[in-house]
Amino acid sequence: MDINITRVERSKLNEMSLENIPFGRYYTDHMLEADYENGEWKNIEIKPYQPLLMEPSTAALHYGQAIFEGIKAYRGKDGNAYIFRPQDNFKRFNISAERMQMPQVPEDIFMEGMRMLIDLDRNWIPENKDHSLYIRPFMFSSDPVIGVKPSDSYKFMIILSPAGPYYNAPIRIYVEEKFVRAAPGGVGYAKAAGNYGASMFATAQAKKLGYDQVLWTDAYEHKYVQEIGTMNVFFIIGDTAITPSLEEGTILNGVTRESAMTILKEMGFKVQEKKISVDDLMDAHKAGILYEVFGTGTAATITQIKELRYKDYVMEFDVDNSKTAPELKKRLTDIREGRAADKHGWMYKI
Ligand SMILES: *Cc1c(COP(=O)(O)O)cnc(C)c1O
Repeated sequence: MDINITRVERSKLNEMSLENIPFGRYYTDHMLEADYENGEWKNIEIKPYQPLLMEPSTAALHYGQAIFEGIKAYRGKDGNAYIFRPQDNFKRFNISAERMQMPQVPEDIFMEGMRMLIDLDRNWIPENKDHSLYIRPFMFSSDPVIGVKPSDSYKFMIILSPAGPYYNAPIRIYVEEKFVRAAPGGVGYAKAAGNYGASMFATAQAKKLGYDQVLWTDAYEHKYVQEIGTMNVFFIIGDTAITPSLEEGTILNGVTRESAMTILKEMGFKVQEKKISVDDLMDAHKAGILYEVFGTGTAATITQIKELRYKDYVMEFDVDNSKTAPELKKRLTDIREGRAADKHGWMYKI
């Protein structure tokens, strides 16, 4: 495949350090851009990171055909660059594209484009522990037309952002029973930009009450739990790790969720994907067997929950003495940062 490369004259890395940089604020020297027009992908280019010139009528800004992915690259102990499970993100990206009536992005543009881009900007992969290079592929509709219809043209892009340790102190969660993130038949399983826009009001309300994020519940009864803001959720009940099942299409199929299920099994847990209600959680809490609650996602990896509140019922967790979430996080980051063997073939070498 032909990818045109235009290099920067001078790397921005000369003026900055990659140590402890905040998440999602800085971008590497280059980006990938491709256009979909008249039924085909063209103008596939890697070029200096720069602003886009867009018409104000650009369809995505009005009707929200916009999807994205989040992936991380690491510098291995052998000095090579590795990406964590990018093939899974590639597949999910096209599942999101289908749901949003957007074109499929071919594997060679997504995977080979990402590989070439990271190869070019490989000096931007931080070396320090808990640091990584965050990869953000995204696609949006680009017709300069404000009639409501699927766009004829789209732009696919990849930008890269070096990231220091993600701030993930244990958080307090408000179980949402008024607002809705996703309903069966909706777009909950797609990594669609609008899902985030739609969630921010509820999260802001929860913040006013002193909570960090909400745990979404089902749209009909607000009885069954779905996921937390940007993360999937796990409950350790007795010797079982439970996470809500995906079958209603209301939950994002997280790559970290899938990896966590695999590692939790290796740690000796029974792992169940099933419908789980807030009542089940409260019963387990009253019985003293709801030991831990944590979220999983690419950005923060594993985030411990120290409080879960449903109406007036408050469940608190002794995160300082929790064993599972820290052990799971250690095992996962050891694989990603090359300290443990990659026996599942999760690391994709650049
Ligand atoms: C991206 C995302 C996740 C986490 O998925 P990972 O593949 O583990 O990063 C969970 N929930 C939502 C809503 C997301 O958008």
